[in-house]
Amino acid sequence: MPIRIVFHGELTGLLNNRGLSPEATRDLSRAAPVKDLIESQGVPHTEVGRITSEDLERSFSHVPAWGEIVEVHPHRPPVDVSIPSILFPEPFEEVGFVADANVARLGGLLRLAGFDCLLDPRWDDARIAEKAGGYKRILLTRDKELLKRNRVIRGRLVRSERPWDQLAEVIHFFGLSDRIDLFSRCPKCNVLLEGTEKSAVIDQLEPLTRMMYDRFTRCPGCGQIYWSGSHHGRIREKLAAALEQASKD
Ligand SMILES: [Zn+2]
Repeated sequence: MPIRIVFHGELTGLLNNRGLSPEATRDLSRAAPVKDLIESQGVPHTEVGRITSEDLERSFSHVPAWGEIVEVHPHRPPVDVSIPSILFPEPFEEVGFVADANVARLGGLLRLAGFDCLLDPRWDDARIAEKAGGYKRILLTRDKELLKRNRVIRGRLVRSERPWDQLAEVIHFFGLSDRIDLFSRCPKCNVLLEGTEKSAVIDQLEPLTRMMYDRFTRCPGCGQIYWSGSHHGRIREKLAAALEQASKD
């Protein structure tokens, strides 16, 4: 009697060899922790919200018996990473991210929206997974294999293609809309900006900026000076439009 794994909802779209076997049901003849069985079929464990068999909720380390039928369900957003669950018993006290290079622009937009996001295009997959696991950060990527690495605890396989849609997807998925703090963090260095007196930065301003603006912030990391110009309004509009769309999807 094989072990039967039944994938539900959006998880079916992540399965390997869908052309060969379009069914969302996979019969396996290998006894192993259910996490390994699920990932062997192409679904990273980070995408799984609930596992049940024999009317019981299961953890990733559960080893199914021969003939057992295991139901695998996706997350139901919003996913609050500070709440422990059977699958994710270690709560994350802070919401922080690591983005890999293929979603680098998303990383920059997260910082713009005030979220802590580590990002370095020089990091290889092992380093990224270590940053995510070691520092309890949510890994954001479009690479399924990266999410399957052992060190990774929480993550999200980013589905949207355009950076603003990706930002809205992440905010919506993790229920973070009330934590947005636009223009509070340096998009280049991920450091929180500090308020500064105009008189302290006046020498570094272009004449027009000096004339038109009175409120400034400064990055303690790179020294960049920021002010609230007309681009802020455009960014607010873009974010609002993307969030509205994400709430409809
Ligand atoms: Zn900076």
